[in-house]
Amino acid sequence: MILVHAEKCNGCGICVDYCTVGAIRLDGRLAVIDPERCTDCYVCLRNVVCRLKALDKGPLEAFADIFGHVLSDPTETTAETGVPGRGTEEAKTNDVTGRVRPGEVGVAIDMGRPGVGVFLRDVEKVAKAVCAAGLVLEPGDVSPLGKVLKDLRTGEMLPEVRHKYLLSIIIEGKTTLDRFPEVIKALRAIEGRIDTVLLRRHHPPRRRRRASPAHRPALRIRAPAADKGQGQRRPGTPAGRLTRRRADRTPPSLHRKEQAMTHTLHRHGDRESLKDDFVWLMYQSKGINDKDIAPKARAFVDAAEAVGCSNWGDVKSGSILKLSPQEIKERIGDRSRIRGVLNSREQVTRFLKLVKQQDLGISVVVSGLLDEVLEACREADVKPHTINYSLGVWGRRDLLPDDDTLAITTMCGHHMISARFVRRSVEDIRKGKISPERAARRIGELCPCGIFNHVRATRLLARMAGKGA
Ligand code: SF4
Ligand code: SF4
Repeated sequence: MILVHAEKCNGCGICVDYCTVGAIRLDGRLAVIDPERCTDCYVCLRNVVCRLKALDKGPLEAFADIFGHVLSDPTETTAETGVPGRGTEEAKTNDVTGRVRPGEVGVAIDMGRPGVGVFLRDVEKVAKAVCAAGLVLEPGDVSPLGKVLKDLRTGEMLPEVRHKYLLSIIIEGKTTLDRFPEVIKALRAIEGRIDTVLLRRHHPPRRRRRASPAHRPALRIRAPAADKGQGQRRPGTPAGRLTRRRADRTPPSLHRKEQAMTHTLHRHGDRESLKDDFVWLMYQSKGINDKDIAPKARAFVDAAEAVGCSNWGDVKSGSILKLSPQEIKERIGDRSRIRGVLNSREQVTRFLKLVKQQDLGISVVVSGLLDEVLEACREADVKPHTINYSLGVWGRRDLLPDDDTLAITTMCGHHMISARFVRRSVEDIRKGKISPERAARRIGELCPCGIFNHVRATRLLARMAGKGA
């Protein structure tokens, strides 16, 4: 838990607006941290929101506290899986891992996202329900949840961690196509009995089986020769195809106010708002193609810069909204995972063409409106390997902010942006204290990955503040 040095705090309240889960309140002229709710995400510390340096790290000694911090702070790396962020590759590297195979359905249930937070006792309820319905959970060396489960087969949690509150965690596993409807039914049944939100995603098999239109991949094409990856692959997995994820075919009934939501980290908004918002990620896979990453990461950056990428970053350092591109490039290492934002389909097409030419042997994820991404792939002659569908937010949706605010906060997939800070920024714009563009950049600085789309955010903020656009 974060500590407050009472002798330094003047009660200005600035930190309250930044806290991702509302764990800071003012008691008179003193900031007070809720010990049960502070997730140790370190947004307040990393961004030095207290100029008086009244906020400080508290001790992290108990296993549950260390686990909570690593899962809530995306700049940390989960030791067992070797993955920063939330500690799992999911289906981002399915083209080289073959984690989800034809005839299987990969399922990722994001608990606590977007921006609500979650107690592990609620995670246990959902894990038990989906295990009973036939979901086989991933072990702890693949997905962090496995580390805190007493029994991977049943979803039973270690008792000593049930009280722990995190920013988010993924329940990840797979099942067969036949059993998939049972998993969905189990989630339907449990969503009313948890005090948080959950976001469901699934990764359908590449080979088409009988499936409903909403669950069917829209495109399955052979990988082009130029997409050959490098490194060892597990038997039976196709070579080096682009891994692309997105969901725009979600049944409208699943959407809050029928808003569309892309997969990538729950970007929220209607079609008009999302049509110039694309995210790309480079993703190496542990033990397969995770060697000699730095020069490849720099090559991704070169491609992004060549097409005019508006924001990019390395979660270990930060984004170009906060640091100079040169600073980030100099810090790139073999654990770096570079991500960025593109603002038109034409940019996506050019980016894919360049990445294909580079033939780096690293999985590439592109997220955006499904038909737009498919068209960009077609134009670049790139054959998607895996499609990741987002099926919406379930559970306590009443805890979410309004749709406009959510459209901004969800542009940081790790939820480093609080709804309060967005509201304060809108207020500042209304009062003429800051321009929409500067406010968008200020908010975007909180997202360390570089996937915050400040161009789109400028437009949204201006509209929210009644300044046109
Ligand atoms: S920003 Fe610093 S001084 Fe202001 S309330 Fe928070 S801890 Fe106190
Ligand atoms: S921003 Fe994160 S680390 Fe800081 S008080 Fe809030 S929950 Fe705790």
